[in-house]
This record gives sequence, structure tokens and C-alpha cells, in this order.
Amino acid sequence: MLLASALVAGPNPAESNAEVAAHVRGAMSFLASDAMRGRGSATSDEMVAATYVVSQFQSLGLDKAELQRVALPSGAVTYNAYAVLRGSDPALAGQTILISSHLDHLGTRQSPNGEVIFHGADDDASGTSAVLELARALASHRPRRTILFVCFGSEETGGQGHRGFLQNLPLPLSSIIADIEFEMIGQPDPTVGPSQLWLTGWERSNLGPTLAQHGAPLVGDPHPEQNFFRRSDNYDLALQGIVAHTVSSYGLGDHYHTPADDLAHIDFNHLCRAIESMIAPVTWLADSDWKPSWKSGGRPTAPAIRTPKPVPLR
Ligand SMILES: [Zn+2]
Repeated sequence: MLLASALVAGPNPAESNAEVAAHVRGAMSFLASDAMRGRGSATSDEMVAATYVVSQFQSLGLDKAELQRVALPSGAVTYNAYAVLRGSDPALAGQTILISSHLDHLGTRQSPNGEVIFHGADDDASGTSAVLELARALASHRPRRTILFVCFGSEETGGQGHRGFLQNLPLPLSSIIADIEFEMIGQPDPTVGPSQLWLTGWERSNLGPTLAQHGAPLVGDPHPEQNFFRRSDNYDLALQGIVAHTVSSYGLGDHYHTPADDLAHIDFNHLCRAIESMIAPVTWLADSDWKPSWKSGGRPTAPAIRTPKPVPLR
């Protein structure tokens, strides 16, 4: 039977914490499951992950949601999942905010004891679940600016997914005024406050400090020696001039790129709180006519860091 209250049309109320938690657990459980086999870059497992993300975008009623194939010189194909939510204000809909993550991880490896799955729950199923939740929150609200959601393939092998995307953008590059990438937010970083997240390249632009003024629990990257600003999908966009940073809470734990990066090591309370805490600040940015900019000398010019990442088997 249909509840009478369901017949009253109106905007979707903000989701409760329990609803966010249920969605996040669902997305994480799918993406980091054994069946996804670690979402190896440019594999059929990556394609399944990307197809799942597109189907989630479609279920949210976004204006466009597509799987993008990127042919690689090797003959393999990597997959980006993207969606567009057109802005509601004609004066601002020509400005786009990119919300991104990467959906691939390291796949499987042979060990002396048989096949081992690198589930990549933190890296970067956690960021992908954040993109999906932000898409859900923003779709129910339809902000004034246009939002482009992208989960890239093949970040782990050098960023072939985002580079293919930059060559086949669904919207003009010049319309993108900011990129916020989410990477490894599934555990708290003990070197910052318990609910804090950090932003790579914090000092380079006014985006992080301004989001913090609007409630984001963001601080500067406490690990500058790691050069994280130059090690994710955001960086090639930053080289194009887009104010592009990565949000993370990776505390240099030893699960990085090991089989221990699995669902059992995700702190779901932290992850859900992290995602919820970014909804209002990102919604503010999406509705604002304030434009982020590089600080003097902050726009990068140095090449991206694409050194192969070690894959220890333990
Ligand atoms: Zn990653």
C-alpha cells in the first residue's frame, strides 16, 4: 500500500546518516568484493566496476551518465564512468565543478601460495563511494552550477583514464573551474584531527581554505614530502590550469598497495562521516558564484610523478 505522505510531491529531504551509511556500505561492498578481483587497470573487472558506477549515476536521474572507453597503445581498453548534472541557473550553468576519484586498483597477483586479490577498498573504492554519495546529494538538490562526476580508470598504471578523458571531454575544458578528487578516505590519518581530511596542494590555491570556511573539515596535507599533490588524477588537470586538488585522510598506513587494503580494514564510521562532512561545503560551492583561483606561484608546472608503485606481497 502506498503511504499517503508519499503522494505529496516535494523536494527530497536530506538523507539521514543511516541512509548515507547504507549507500556507502553497499558501494564499498560491491567495489571491493572478491568478485571484483581488485578492479585491475584496463581489465574486464575495471569495466564491470565502471559499469556499476554508471548504473548508479543513472539511478540518480543525472542528465547524462556514460561509460567512456579509452583505447591504450597496448591494445587494451580502460574505462571511465562519468555523469553530468546540468546547473539550474542559466548564468552559472556554463561553469562546471568536477568531482572525481579512480575506480581501478591493482587487480590480482600470483604469490607462492596462489592468487592474491588486491581489493583496493581504501584505494580508491572509498573515494568512488564519496563521488556516488555527492552525486546523490547534489542530484536531489540540483545546484546552480553544472557538476561533472568522473571515476577514472587506470590511475594505478599512470593515469591513462584521466588523460583519455581530457582528450574527450563531454564539456569544454574552459568551463571547469575546480576539480576535487577523493582518494583514500577509508581510514583516519592520526597525524591530523580525528575527523579531519587533508587537501593536497593546500597552500597553492584558495579552494581548500574557502571550503574550510564553509564547514569542510579540511586542513593542509601533513605529508608534503610524499608529493601526493602530483600523484593523483588531479595533477594533470592542475597542469591544464584547473584548480584541482585531492582530498584524503591516508595516514601512511602500511595497507597501501597490499592485500590488507580490504573491507575489513575500512573504518566505516570515519568514511561515512568524511563523506557527510563534504556534502554541505561542496553544495555551497556548487551554488556559489565564487570562483577558486591559484595563489601567486601556486599553479604547478612540474611534470606529474608516474613512478611505478611497489606491490609487496605479504
Ligand atoms: Zn589511489
